[in-house]
Amino acid sequence: MKTYTIKNFNEQFPTDDACLDFLFKARYPKGVYCQKCQKITTHYKIANRKVYSCEFCGSHVSPTAGTIFHKSYTPLRSWFHAMFLMASTKTGISAKQLERELGVTYKTAWRIFGQVRKLMAENVNPLSGKVEVDETYIGGKRHGKRGRGALGKTVVMGMVERDGKAITQVVPNVQARTLLPMIERNVERENKTIIFTDELPSYNQVERLGYAHRIVQHSAKQYVSGIAHVNTCEALWSTIKRGIDGVNHSVSPLHLQSYLDSYVYRYNHRKDEHPMFLSLLNQVSRVVQIS
Ligand SMILES: [Zn+2]
Repeated sequence: MKTYTIKNFNEQFPTDDACLDFLFKARYPKGVYCQKCQKITTHYKIANRKVYSCEFCGSHVSPTAGTIFHKSYTPLRSWFHAMFLMASTKTGISAKQLERELGVTYKTAWRIFGQVRKLMAENVNPLSGKVEVDETYIGGKRHGKRGRGALGKTVVMGMVERDGKAITQVVPNVQARTLLPMIERNVERENKTIIFTDELPSYNQVERLGYAHRIVQHSAKQYVSGIAHVNTCEALWSTIKRGIDGVNHSVSPLHLQSYLDSYVYRYNHRKDEHPMFLSLLNQVSRVVQIS
């Protein structure tokens, strides 16, 4: 795999304008269609502003509008630097580390952190093949019983292709009416798909949904016997939990989904031929929901 180092970053993005220019080109790959002139026209950057102006009528366009950079006073280069940092470490980086690296306030670091994670939330195509489905509890202090009584813990459902991609989702509970629709939404129901779960009764109806279903008997300690295991999913859980413990210390239930998205983003891109930062750069012009 090719690498993309901080040296590469400094060369590609030496200034705020270089970042803005990148964003401009990513957003308008075929040029800007001027509403007033009713055609694609050349636009020139206006000095000291994050806008470009039509060569004929002077109408403005702002490449940052609607993106994660919308109305931010933080220099664009700091944003790009944050993306570089967040994409370049395996376990991720905390908002606190961003604060130090970028030399911004914690509040700003936290906002950047959250916005960049939005870019990391991506739509993964429905999973297929051998798909492990499992749930785990994250957060809280007590070891609660499964299904109920896990006080202060948040339930997370995972669906993971062996050797492929993963989807994780915070769910309200582990009841069948919660878990089964998630499977139907995210896993292809074609001939070769086999779903692996443990013996949680909520999964009893998986076969009735039209999937092949293999059950791992955790209680009988059979989880490594043959192909019936959910080890891939369990490995993902431990990476996620290690990341939360080691890097972020704790995560509120409210923010857990976006943490999951950034971990799973890295997981799903682990075999990419090109550096993750470049994949993330492909997303910069995406219009996101502003918060
Ligand atoms: Zn114009």
